[in-house]
Amino acid sequence: MRIFDPHIHMTSRTTDDYRAMADAGVEALVEPAFWLGQPRTSVETFVDYFDGLLGWEPFRASQFGISHHCAIALNPKEANDPRLKGVMDLLPRYLVKDRVVAVGETGYDSMTPLEDEILARHLELAVEHGLPALVHTPHRDKAVGTKRTLDVVRESGIDPGMVVLDHLNELSVPMVAESGCWMAFSVYPDTKMTEERMVSILKEFGTDRMMVNSAADWGHSDALKTLKTGQAMLAAGFDDKDVEKVLWSNPVDFYGQSGRLELNNAEVAEEYDGNSIKRGGS
Ligand SMILES: [Zn+2]
Repeated sequence: MRIFDPHIHMTSRTTDDYRAMADAGVEALVEPAFWLGQPRTSVETFVDYFDGLLGWEPFRASQFGISHHCAIALNPKEANDPRLKGVMDLLPRYLVKDRVVAVGETGYDSMTPLEDEILARHLELAVEHGLPALVHTPHRDKAVGTKRTLDVVRESGIDPGMVVLDHLNELSVPMVAESGCWMAFSVYPDTKMTEERMVSILKEFGTDRMMVNSAADWGHSDALKTLKTGQAMLAAGFDDKDVEKVLWSNPVDFYGQSGRLELNNAEVAEEYDGNSIKRGGS
């Protein structure tokens, strides 16, 4: 099974996870910028974080033959902290770089007016940079939050084919299917979505514009949920082609719209010099 995990926070994972993922067939991934558990208190700390997503983390991944890409944004949880407003001004500097394949993750956490403004600005940045956008849907009031997210996507004028809404469930998937946006599902051990429920959704809605991720982070999560969903699909009667489409071709098609996917790693492992990766882009 060839796997592209389109949403996983590798900064929180160990090399054992990288090894297990490589053994499971994970060849590529996207790590969206997110929070770090402990709230950050200044803009400068985001510079170090974003640099890590572009420097050290791709190097770690490349040691296991995995191609690492990232999405850059001010995450929805921290978007409400007035001390971090300046992070929005940092984004254009990063959105032009190689291996930044999307703006994200953005979206709603508590659906505050400030989150409205910041989500709209992220979508504007995606349009300006010709990048896809990864939009997180809130865990509370999922249906209301998803509807409001789709309204903001429509108002922004971005091509819905350049937008993926993540953390969907049975309630939110019909309206996203209708919108033309891509649909993503975070399969988790206890919360969000299980592989069995995921298989039922794929049976009902088909495999077009569908992506499955492990979203693995600091909470109880499992970096192999992509593999386990593929296995559940096969057990339920889907064939290898369906699995390849959901776990590989769909993420490649979606993030490929950035023009920046690099699915061969050898270069990164050789070039990392301990501070930065010597490569193109600014
Ligand atoms: Zn995430």
